[in-house]
Amino acid sequence: MIIGIDLGGTKIAGILVTPSGKMLMDVQIPTEAKKGKKKVIDNIKKAIRMLFKSQKVKIKAIGIGAPGPILHDQGIVIEAPNLPGWKRVNLKQILQKEFRVPVSVDNDANCAALAETWFGAAKFVKDCIYLTVSTGIGGGIVINKKIYRGAIGSAGEFGHMIIDCNGPKCGCGQRGCLEALASGSALKKKTGISALALELAARQGDKKAQEAIAETAHYLAIGVANLVNIFNPEMVIIGGGLSNMRELIINPVKTEFKKYALTLPAKSVKIVRAKLGVKAGVLGAAALCL
Ligand SMILES: [Zn+2]
Repeated sequence: MIIGIDLGGTKIAGILVTPSGKMLMDVQIPTEAKKGKKKVIDNIKKAIRMLFKSQKVKIKAIGIGAPGPILHDQGIVIEAPNLPGWKRVNLKQILQKEFRVPVSVDNDANCAALAETWFGAAKFVKDCIYLTVSTGIGGGIVINKKIYRGAIGSAGEFGHMIIDCNGPKCGCGQRGCLEALASGSALKKKTGISALALELAARQGDKKAQEAIAETAHYLAIGVANLVNIFNPEMVIIGGGLSNMRELIINPVKTEFKKYALTLPAKSVKIVRAKLGVKAGVLGAAALCL
């Protein structure tokens, strides 16, 4: 059995799964991020202990998905934006010492990509690209069922591919990154309302809301076309909060990316919505151990 832990800014979710992804138990406890690093680590241990004690089965490994940049090989969280005091935390070492099983750590976008690959939309696919569109934009590159991490582990930062170098300023310091044009926060900046409110307005026929969503889909389509041209993936999976707009956002991306992508890879690729929703984080953390 494998334990998967999703460390979030507000809650820690954990699951106990079989190697085929069958969930045997799940737990959820508050992160208590404001109480500092030590308290959060204690809470992670607490969640793991709850899962350990729950069944009389042997735990083979623990996988952890955490926010922010991570040194996967060493299991170090370099920093975590929503967790005060988290600078270069060696989660792998801390937890291996405590539980005496192999521990694997990766960032939440890579975990979600793995989850979709092993248990979700890309279950029968070897090579795919996972694009998550929420407040920010991120993703994961899956090659032969494994995450491609790059030289220093920073691969898959799809949010910072530059779409328009005269475009709006991005959090990274550049201009016109996909994230500055098509993320949830870009949409909010443009319209002043949340993605959820915007979706509702669009569904009720509000022209301005429909245009704002169409514009987001337009930039996402350019981003997807770039990914299809570079990677020639079997599948591109779109997840994250904005994918909950379903056909409002996925359908225009599906049609429009073809305008910008090379004909042959565009013909063969499947563009789909992520399947696993909120469970992607924990399932992907468990999948780190597969
Ligand atoms: Zn950027």
